[in-house]
Amino acid sequence: MKTHTGIGRRRFLGSAAAALGAGFWADRTLDAAVQNVNRNSHPSDLRITDLRVAVVKDAPFTCPLIRIDTNQDIYGLGEVRDGASKTYALILKSRILGENPCNVDKIFRKIKQFGGDARQAGGVCGIEMALWDLAGKAYGVPVYQMLGGKFRDKIRCYADTTESNDPKIYGQRLKARKDQGFTWLKMDLGIDLLGDEEGTLTHPLGTKYRQGDTVQHMFTGFELTEKGIARMAEFVATVREYVGMEVPLSADHFGHIGVNSCIRLGKGLEKYNLAWLEDMIPWQYTDLWKKITDAVDIPTLTGEDIYLKDHFIELARNHAVDILHPDLATSGGILETHKIGDSIQEFGVPMAMHFAGTPVSCMASVHCAAATENFLVLENHSVDVPWWGDLVEGIEKPIINHGFITVPEKPGLGVTLNDDAVKQHLLEPGYFEPTPEWNHEHSHDRTWS
Ligand SMILES: [Mg+2]
Repeated sequence: MKTHTGIGRRRFLGSAAAALGAGFWADRTLDAAVQNVNRNSHPSDLRITDLRVAVVKDAPFTCPLIRIDTNQDIYGLGEVRDGASKTYALILKSRILGENPCNVDKIFRKIKQFGGDARQAGGVCGIEMALWDLAGKAYGVPVYQMLGGKFRDKIRCYADTTESNDPKIYGQRLKARKDQGFTWLKMDLGIDLLGDEEGTLTHPLGTKYRQGDTVQHMFTGFELTEKGIARMAEFVATVREYVGMEVPLSADHFGHIGVNSCIRLGKGLEKYNLAWLEDMIPWQYTDLWKKITDAVDIPTLTGEDIYLKDHFIELARNHAVDILHPDLATSGGILETHKIGDSIQEFGVPMAMHFAGTPVSCMASVHCAAATENFLVLENHSVDVPWWGDLVEGIEKPIINHGFITVPEKPGLGVTLNDDAVKQHLLEPGYFEPTPEWNHEHSHDRTWS
């Protein structure tokens, strides 16, 4: 162990050790702590000077990367949730300018009123990630360490594939994922798979199921018939022939069908050992979720659109679903999602994690997953995007290696951007250009009187 004052000081301390006893070790520990501070940075004097964006497209979704610059030689990377507008982050710039980014929780509490469910939370969460990246760089530690340390060194990932109406093709695609090393799979299992087959769905005359897309499940009037349920069960049976019965296989995107159809379909799928039934109805309906969960002996899951820990706790306390599924870029960022995991663990509920962005927010999820005991598995939507891993440098490649991501050990999130690779996939001109037009955005922000 080196000290910044060199060998002479060590010898002096060593010779003094016998006389000073425990005091010697205390001194060495202090030296070690000081040595780990980034010497480009004096954390107490660190201040935020700018917030800039670069918007990546087709990753496979649109992903606004953000960079928070400081008055010292370090910056923080973050990411607004997939499919959300960069404006959600930019509108917060005037609220964070001049703040010390190491005060992550203080800044989060200042800006969290500007987040909302689903994509509305993208700005708050993207900034929170970048603050952790900065704090880690300032003090020379990886983010997971600041959360209390690791429960695991590698993070299990799950992946789905592009959909096919032919269950054999779908089965082959999922088998290919398994052959890549994925140890947890997911498939879309929607009523669209039934095509126009007669007698599989009842619905208001003159409507098509697509019209249900903007109407919540309970209000569409779409219900599955026995024949429809049998067809969907046959579909899963065929997929199971390809991937086997043992690998966890989750199912999502059922379509907007009523609660009783969800229950009857769930019962029809029980013997295929599905890992979870995802978002069968909207997350807001705790009682209806509980009705489905109590009736069906397959784990149920929701959560990718929920902002902040409160509603996760509500669902867990009521045992309305079996597993919760925050997306860290919506749920409130790294610390809030860590709190969500810890809170729902007290009710015996595990935490899977939704994710569909670039490697920047992937690493935010990886640090949180490493430090949260009841973590189950992390989604990845970019397995078929060949350049996805090229966007960053500084970590093990391939990022997902046989279905697992190694937790980075470098300070902060542990990645730097590969500027050339990012520039090849920009949605619009501009790569982290200055944003002075957002310096003075103002309102009376107090949420109480
Ligand atoms: Mg989903």
